[in-house]
Amino acid sequence: MSTTAPGPLYQPAGTPAGLESVRSLVNTALDVLREVSAARLGPVAPGGPEGARTAARHALAAPLLPEHGGEGAEVLADLVRSYAQWSVDITHPAALARMQPPPTDVAAAAELVGAILNQSLHAWESGPFALELDRWVIAQLAELVGYDSEEAGGTLTSGGSVSNLMAMTMARDTTIADKLGRHAFQEGLLSLGVQPVVLCPQGVHFSIERAVRLLGIGEANIVTVPIDKHGRMIPEEADRILTELPEGQLAVALVAVAGSTDLGIVDPLPELAAIARRHGVWLHADAAYGAGALFSPRLRPMLAGLELADSVTMDLHKFGWTPASSAALLVRRAETMLSFGLQPTTCLSADDDTCAGYIGSQNTSLQTTRRVDALKIAVSMRTLGREAVAAMVDTCHDLAKHAAARIAAEPRLELGTEPPLTAVLFRYLPTGSLDADAFNGALRRRVMEQGSALLARTHIPHEDGGSRVFLKLMLLNPETTTGQLDAILDDLLALAAELAAELATELAAELATEPAADPEAASAAESAAEPAAAATGA
Ligand SMILES: *Cc1c(COP(=O)(O)O)cnc(C)c1O
Repeated sequence: MSTTAPGPLYQPAGTPAGLESVRSLVNTALDVLREVSAARLGPVAPGGPEGARTAARHALAAPLLPEHGGEGAEVLADLVRSYAQWSVDITHPAALARMQPPPTDVAAAAELVGAILNQSLHAWESGPFALELDRWVIAQLAELVGYDSEEAGGTLTSGGSVSNLMAMTMARDTTIADKLGRHAFQEGLLSLGVQPVVLCPQGVHFSIERAVRLLGIGEANIVTVPIDKHGRMIPEEADRILTELPEGQLAVALVAVAGSTDLGIVDPLPELAAIARRHGVWLHADAAYGAGALFSPRLRPMLAGLELADSVTMDLHKFGWTPASSAALLVRRAETMLSFGLQPTTCLSADDDTCAGYIGSQNTSLQTTRRVDALKIAVSMRTLGREAVAAMVDTCHDLAKHAAARIAAEPRLELGTEPPLTAVLFRYLPTGSLDADAFNGALRRRVMEQGSALLARTHIPHEDGGSRVFLKLMLLNPETTTGQLDAILDDLLALAAELAAELATELAAELATEPAADPEAASAAESAAEPAAAATGA
């Protein structure tokens, strides 16, 4: 019986032939990206959700796993084309909605290497150098925070949300062990006979609330610490709450925000650290966004005391210019990561191996298989250097201040607050009887549907106890110029005037067709129509 050697079932990326194939495929993909980029009209394609769905229906007509596969270069080019056409162009100056900075070129190249080598961090034999690199990056980031790197520890994570979950887990376990001599992670919370509670300021990131849910503490056991008129947690209030905690309750964590997502608020860290220490409570600082200030000698003072926190959440995929995921949880004392250290059950981390140095990182992570984000972070940071990163952070801050000044000078715009970091909150004030909240929501959807700009939306508390819808510009692209920013705001103002006129006309028409039972409403519609219509000409 004669046998012919069967052809290969697939082309692996990492072989000599595979590397050549990757080189050619990457060229194909890059050509498509350039072609799409040249045809772009704005930061996102026009058409809104309906447009994206229609594009997807066409692009995704073939099944995920067809009976017979296709030619790699063709499949790649096809899907990359649709993907890119309907991607948000984060390099566009009007892509201002989310914390997605345009990543550096070297970071993108390093990401490709990561995919080819496909190392993992859970066991020594899954990535020996990757593990060393990962530990080194953690130690360097711990130093950046101001921790003693001998004592400190941490892990890279998929993002601030997971960092916050891990921090709250450690807070719960460490505080309960310190105060009750019990291991919550072993015994469960019910057996403890006390109710753990978590102290947070109003406006803490929702991932903290979700962590409290997931950890079995329960959202009802979040105690909200009052804030002052600048939105900062009042330390005396935290102290009072901790002192007066009812019998049967045990405070496990005090959560401080070090750069809130919308307003960039930093809680008074040194005072809170002293209070947390005095009460034996874990202090967690959520600096997912704010940690960027560490890179800038000018902004760094706002994070004074960060090194006093027991744990710090830091996202480099926000400030840091590396692609997601690039995020870290850093802890003041490495041994507090016990929460994630399962007893070794298999050969993955048997004790004699551990003694011999065959150590993976699965005991300091929520994940087992874990991608190596440290490579792109290291390559990118070393390429940029301290001076450039500081300039990038400062430039974004300057852009935010420029936008804020421009907004403050526009009679139809209301500025939220002066931006301490790079987020600028504002809203358009329509004349007449148009509701400002509904209007700003509609305005945001209109610009996104046209594809002319991407803005975020939030609501901020108002003196009357309610809240108001604000639009948000997130400035994380230091290549944007003040001239471009001015042009974006000009366009936005023109569009807002157009929309106001449209809505006022609609409102007037609606009221005119209704039987004039309510003379007040009719005159409100009139007054809404007039100034808005005048604004169209502006
Ligand atoms: C963005 C952000 C998070 C969540 O981080 P992800 O990386 O998106 O998971 C948490 N806290 C704050 C203050 C943030 O700004």
